[in-house]
Amino acid sequence: MILASPGSSWLRIPYPRGVSVLCKSVLRTSVIEFPGHIADVVFVGGCNFRCPYCYNRDLVLNPGLLPDLPAELVFEDVKGRRCFVDGIVITGGEPSLQPELDAFLTRAREANLLTKLDTNGYRPDVLRRCLEKHLVSYIAMDVKTSLPRYRSVAGLDVDHRLLLESISLILSSGVEHEFRTTVVPGLVELSDVEAISREIRGAQQYYLQAFRPSPTVGWGNEVPVGSPDPELMQQMARVASRNVHHVGVRGLVQGDGTTSREAIRIDSQEALTS
Ligand code: SF4
Repeated sequence: MILASPGSSWLRIPYPRGVSVLCKSVLRTSVIEFPGHIADVVFVGGCNFRCPYCYNRDLVLNPGLLPDLPAELVFEDVKGRRCFVDGIVITGGEPSLQPELDAFLTRAREANLLTKLDTNGYRPDVLRRCLEKHLVSYIAMDVKTSLPRYRSVAGLDVDHRLLLESISLILSSGVEHEFRTTVVPGLVELSDVEAISREIRGAQQYYLQAFRPSPTVGWGNEVPVGSPDPELMQQMARVASRNVHHVGVRGLVQGDGTTSREAIRIDSQEALTS
């Protein structure tokens, strides 16, 4: 399998199917996925949500069609780049569904790599275990929308207590973290962002990510919505900044057609302490 990603380097190692492993693909030497670090990004297959706007169609819907990649090959491969790669990100799909997650993170720690875990927050039991074992250096949790509207985004009835438990675990963990919301017109409105920011009050960082139309899990090639209005994104950031320390806006298309990593940033220490 060959995947292309403009400006990025992908690792593709042929391996026989049917071998029980964790990883489906790796993005090598990313400078943007782990704040402050250069990291390899490991993608795992399978997810317990079905967000209609998800870009990872095969990872979510057809993980069995993607070749497996033994985790040990990932660690072998990173060895030669350890002079500049200091971290590893595990993302998906949903990493917390992987029975080998603890072992993977432990192996990364043994290799002296910092670890970032991306999660949708629906397995607080797994999150708690990883935190108790000090296996995670940075956590990024998606908060899809306000709790009453979660079903319309996650694609299933969601037990809100699990999400709130994960949020609480992260906020009290002392581990560097971010929460993030993909802003999709019709699914995430200003009032949703306001409600989310209250749920994550006191968070270190909250990122609003602009949806960009492209083939997705739920909509296929017929994407019914466009990108959110940049003005609205700014307004959302201002509203959220009342409750969290730093708010950033990612993914806005700039004048030259490129996409910004972080177009807007609001630091609001004062608002939180007042
Ligand atoms: S965007 Fe939704 S469906 Fe896609 S991997 Fe994340 S939680 Fe799963």
